Amino acid sequence: MSDILRTDCLSKIYGQKNTQVAALTNINIAIEKGSFTSIVGRSGSGKTTLLNILGGLERPSSGSVYFGDTNIYTLNDSECAAFRRKHIGYIFQFFNLIPELTAYENICLPSYLDSKEPDHSFLSDVMLKLGITNKKDKFPAEMSGGEQQRVAVARALSCKPDIILADEPTGNLDRRTGDELMQTLLLSQRYFEQTILMVTHDLELAQTADRIIKLEDGKVHSDLRGGQR
Ligand code: ADP
Ligand code: MG
Repeated sequence: MSDILRTDCLSKIYGQKNTQVAALTNINIAIEKGSFTSIVGRSGSGKTTLLNILGGLERPSSGSVYFGDTNIYTLNDSECAAFRRKHIGYIFQFFNLIPELTAYENICLPSYLDSKEPDHSFLSDVMLKLGITNKKDKFPAEMSGGEQQRVAVARALSCKPDIILADEPTGNLDRRTGDELMQTLLLSQRYFEQTILMVTHDLELAQTADRIIKLEDGKVHSDLRGGQR
């Protein structure tokens, strides 16, 4: 399989001289197209920092992130933002749906922000597969946490991104709803050949992925392939 994303000696240091924190040290990873990777590790091990840097949200202190042939941190801020909109889908822990918009309006928003007409037939299919067709016209406050998170998954898929980055997407869901969300992500991997990178501290959920990268003190501690599926 070909790699969709690759890092080269990625490091991130926060703070000044005597208060420096090495959040990431020398990370070299490659993510294969169509794969589902979990990133695990204790709180403070660098998971969010890694995801943000991979997603073009935060510059590394040194090292590079390549999407195909594009070294994203050689782009200027507005080029990088355009790159993000086009190639990367995000799912956050706190769904981040806009309360004044319906489910479908939320799902279409990334396309409109990119001045594109949403692919409505693709989105109908996505909503059908994710089981939220009948929530289309509901506002976030009218949906359960699990439903809101599925809308957030559909929104992340809406621009057909090369990769979905999810930071503790089940962190605010109960066990059963978290398991359902995981099934939803696996479905999008299967049906839409979606590449997914998910941070979680839930080892049981992490096991469902094709690969588990464990961070410890900002370094790759282990990198295991072949989950329990
Ligand atoms: P995780 O997501 O695994 O809990 P983080 O990536 O959030 O870990 O944090 C890694 C380390 O970097 C921690 O020591 C954290 O305190 C530090 N850190 C994260 N963000 C910042 C920041 N904006 N400023 C200073 N230190 C930070
Ligand atoms: Mg985190």
